[in-house]
Amino acid sequence: MKQYDYLIVGAGLYGAVFAHEAKKAGKKCLVIDKRSHIAGNIYTEPVEGINVHRYGAHIFHTNNKAVWQYVNQFAEFNRYTNSPVANYHGEIYNLPFNMNTFNKMWGVVTPAEAKAKIEQQKAEAGITDPQNLEEQAISLVGTDIYEKLIKGYTGKQWGRPCTELPAFIIKRLPVRFTYDDNYFNALYQGIPNGGYTAMVEKMLDGTEVRLNMDYLADRDALNALAEKVVYTGPVDAYFDYKLGALQYRSVHFETEVLDTDNYQGNAVVNYTDAETPYTRIIEHKHFEFGTQPKTVISREYSAEWKKGDEPYYPVNDEKNGALYAAYKKLADAEPGVIFGGRLGEYKYYDMDKVIEVALDVAAKELA
Ligand SMILES: Cc1cc2nc3c(=O)[nH]c(=O)nc-3n(C[C@H](O)[C@H](O)[C@H](O)COP(=O)(O)OP(=O)(O)OC[C@H]3O[C@@H](n4cnc5c(N)ncnc54)[C@H](O)[C@@H]3O)c2cc1C
Repeated sequence: MKQYDYLIVGAGLYGAVFAHEAKKAGKKCLVIDKRSHIAGNIYTEPVEGINVHRYGAHIFHTNNKAVWQYVNQFAEFNRYTNSPVANYHGEIYNLPFNMNTFNKMWGVVTPAEAKAKIEQQKAEAGITDPQNLEEQAISLVGTDIYEKLIKGYTGKQWGRPCTELPAFIIKRLPVRFTYDDNYFNALYQGIPNGGYTAMVEKMLDGTEVRLNMDYLADRDALNALAEKVVYTGPVDAYFDYKLGALQYRSVHFETEVLDTDNYQGNAVVNYTDAETPYTRIIEHKHFEFGTQPKTVISREYSAEWKKGDEPYYPVNDEKNGALYAAYKKLADAEPGVIFGGRLGEYKYYDMDKVIEVALDVAAKELA
């Protein structure tokens, strides 16, 4: 008999949900994380009384009622609704593309007028077989929206001009012919009052957690402690990159405290011109309707990823898909280890999906 039933590598959302379920099933778990804090990428830390989303803005949204009820055990959610705005050289547009955007762009008032304008621009462009992202976008929404709201932003996101990006990246572009600025089409949406870290803390309540501990640096000794391992770190790192490194797209943040109570009037402002080097500015207090005297903003830059950088977005191309499939074979054959989460499965997962999958895996494992 070993000391623990499960060693859970990673105190992020996946690890915390699994730990909570295992504890409920009477299992003894040890959760470790190489970082100095719990909550993984949804970590929020208080700065000037404001919960700052250190690894990028996180808005909880889901259509899954069971997941919504699940998270509400651990936190009360506020009524935050994501309605980003775009700043194009000082012109402000509502996102996602909707009647407010079209009214500002063209002065049109009715959905029929907006549709006619888009159709006219699509027809004028006359693109029948789009060869790159620029042509694809223009053929979907016309030139004005492309020029002001897509071209610069997408180029910055990918580090290349839209003419050098493949058309398939944007199969479609959501346009909405209502005056509805709610970005997510989700039944449930909000931010946990008190931040995500407090929510994860509750999930881990009663479970032993050790921080600043890298599983890969000491895996034999750690394996000896538990019957089974739940591994939520990068799958390629687990296998010592023996088939090669999976690629990611990264982001980095410049965070600043400002001596004003309201810097931009919205949590998320996208800078859609090509000249501004960052893609967006997050003003954290607006996620929780903060009234603090100061404010904290993060400028978000899109960045190439190299080994050693923080991995953010998996690259969903053929090469990386095939490499992951090869790692998945190794993972499936690894005795006593469950690979899970965004890094363990090399997959972009929204929070609700991570919870859904972790609950599923836990139910099967603990049955
Ligand atoms: C920029 C950005 C914005 C996002 N915004 C949203 C949003 O608005 N809404 C939404 O629903 N989702 C959003 N997401 C997705 C969300 O971040 C993920 O769903 C969630 O973080 C996944 O949790 P996880 O436990 O799988 O991974 P993580 O949170 O990454 O947790 C994995 C943990 O494992 C630890 N670890 C790794 N290797 C080791 C090791 N060797 N030893 C010990 N510990 C290790 C890491 O330190 C980390 O803490 C966003 C993602 C990004 C990148």
